[in-house]
Amino acid sequence: MADGLVFAFLDGQLLLLDGEVPTADRLAVGDEPLPVGPLGVAVALDTAPQLEGASLVGLRDFLSVADEELASAAGRAAQLVEWELGHAFCGRCGTPTEAAGTELARLCPSCGASYYPRITPAVIMLVEHGGRVLLARRAGLNRPFHSVLAGFVEPGETLEEAVCREVLEEAGVDVEDVRYFGSQPWPFPSQLMIGFVARATSDELRVDETELEDAGWFRPDELPTIPGPFTIARRLIDDFVARHAS
Ligand SMILES: [Zn+2]
Repeated sequence: MADGLVFAFLDGQLLLLDGEVPTADRLAVGDEPLPVGPLGVAVALDTAPQLEGASLVGLRDFLSVADEELASAAGRAAQLVEWELGHAFCGRCGTPTEAAGTELARLCPSCGASYYPRITPAVIMLVEHGGRVLLARRAGLNRPFHSVLAGFVEPGETLEEAVCREVLEEAGVDVEDVRYFGSQPWPFPSQLMIGFVARATSDELRVDETELEDAGWFRPDELPTIPGPFTIARRLIDDFVARHAS
């Protein structure tokens, strides 16, 4: 893996040169590039650069094909660019903010407010009952696959409470035995998906159809189309299938 990559974003899309993330010798990074880690830096573009071989790719499409290290760096880069664009002005007094320089923060020179990159926690949970898994399509998104349930954590809530509340709200069923599974940064635009496995106390669903469509219980050998392998949703479902393989 070459060092010195430039993850440049325009309206949430990643710039590629000749189909790859460009290196710093091919794309100028400006005065204040954001450090992404060992791989390189992130920058926000105002306009598409007129460079031969330039193309823009949606981040979700890029993550679905990139290797893990590159995908992780691109996701971090996207979140930092989003944060920088979202905090160009002070939310308290409206003054343009400045990069802190010594740390990853933006400071208001007028009132002293500081703005650090912000992560939004969301829970994602595989709910099972009697060897079957609860899967659904999110209403209104036209996604071509079923997935596990997910939702944002609310202020004052523990992660486990968020799991129980979301499943009850969306599927109308109580869960117990909520266990941590793993997590995944999800840069759309700045979430951290925190994965759990939980057991439903009943298989009787009362589905909120404004949130979910085609919700139901599925055996491991009769799964519908499920999300791609780069998602924690897929890892949760693969784990469920592996645990029920015998
Ligand atoms: Zn201010």
